[in-house]
Amino acid sequence: MITVQRCQDCGRRYFPGRLLCAACDGANFTVAEVAKARIETSTLVHDAAATRLVTLVDGDLVLVGALHGRAERGDLVPLHPRAIDGPGPVAVVPGTESDETAPPSRHLQEETSR
Ligand SMILES: [Zn+2]
Repeated sequence: MITVQRCQDCGRRYFPGRLLCAACDGANFTVAEVAKARIETSTLVHDAAATRLVTLVDGDLVLVGALHGRAERGDLVPLHPRAIDGPGPVAVVPGTESDETAPPSRHLQEETSR
């Protein structure tokens, strides 16, 4: 399970997060959880470790992740923000912990309060 940014006005999801929605120009975002996504492309990065870089699609959302374990193009795989133990398959998408994908306004407030 990963978290991504979700526009409160039109529902479109983004990762990485944005300040304005590309679909409706809305600036109100919340977070949404995504459990699985389908592998659209798969590229072998390092033969010895059999690590694959994959693009993943879940509706309007497109992500890039590292595939651990065996899965093929078209497979639905679980998503995780960090590498996990076990055979997989799991697609790791760094930066998608719940505290990392909070709406940008909160980040801006944290920045200015320092
Ligand atoms: Zn929107």
